[in-house]
Amino acid sequence: MSRVIVMTSGKGGVGKTTVTANLGTALARLGRSVVVVDADFGLRNLDLLLGLENRVVYTALEVIAGECRLEQALVKDKRTPNLSLLPAAQSRNKTAVKPEQMRELIDKLSSSHDYVLIDCPAGIEQGFRNAIAGANEAIIVTTPELAAVRDADRVVGLLEAAQIRPTRLIVNRLRPDMVAASQMMSVEDVVEVLAIPLVGIVPEDREVIVSTNKGEPLVLSSNPPLAAQALQRIARRLEGETVDFPDVASLGESFWERAKRFLNQRVI
Ligand code: ADP
Ligand code: MG
Repeated sequence: MSRVIVMTSGKGGVGKTTVTANLGTALARLGRSVVVVDADFGLRNLDLLLGLENRVVYTALEVIAGECRLEQALVKDKRTPNLSLLPAAQSRNKTAVKPEQMRELIDKLSSSHDYVLIDCPAGIEQGFRNAIAGANEAIIVTTPELAAVRDADRVVGLLEAAQIRPTRLIVNRLRPDMVAASQMMSVEDVVEVLAIPLVGIVPEDREVIVSTNKGEPLVLSSNPPLAAQALQRIARRLEGETVDFPDVASLGESFWERAKRFLNQRVI
């Protein structure tokens, strides 16, 4: 049976779209057939992160409106066989879609893919209800900040009420140096508040921003940086592998890595 996982958070800007693009790519590279669904009608950007924006012809809205077939709207990622994207529309009224319509769409996708990953919009309104409609699992993405964790806690409650389980946790943009200096919540703090199982810790990594701007998921890198390695581990955990959690301190850049980067920049 296929797995339909919604990536959600409550708060915006915590890394849902980044995680969706990279986990989708990583799972496809492990040999799974994956479709990533942009459920962020109005502010779509999953296509950008995957570098597929120029290949979008139809979107989920046209499929729902019966203006095209589902297969016509799916954009295949040429760099990553087994991965496709169902884009969201940007221009039309974003409240036009109803949860039942989303569920129908997701059910169709799940019959032909191993994984359906749904990128949820921020908030807990209609867009959230649409995004969770067809899901049978959830991943909560949060940064270790009070505001994000509080919103995530709210979402955990809503997912419970909607009987979506399991719900797992990704802590994103962790800065080990700040945790060590007690300037940032630790992973343990976040897990204690949310009380859901942890599936991964992704460090703050400037390479994420570089890859976003290039439209190339970080996990495709030939020399994957720390955040990409963390995302690859999450993909393997989703596949049921037992993958140890590295020591949080090792997720930070060493002095030597920082020095190397500095020198590289100087050469350029
Ligand atoms: P959301 O989909 O939750 O709104 P995004 O995935 O769009 O969040 O990420 C918001 C911003 O944070 C983007 O600019 C992205 O590049 C950046 N970002 C996400 N994760 C990381 C990370 N681990 N390290 C550094 N920057 C990150
Ligand atoms: Mg997003």
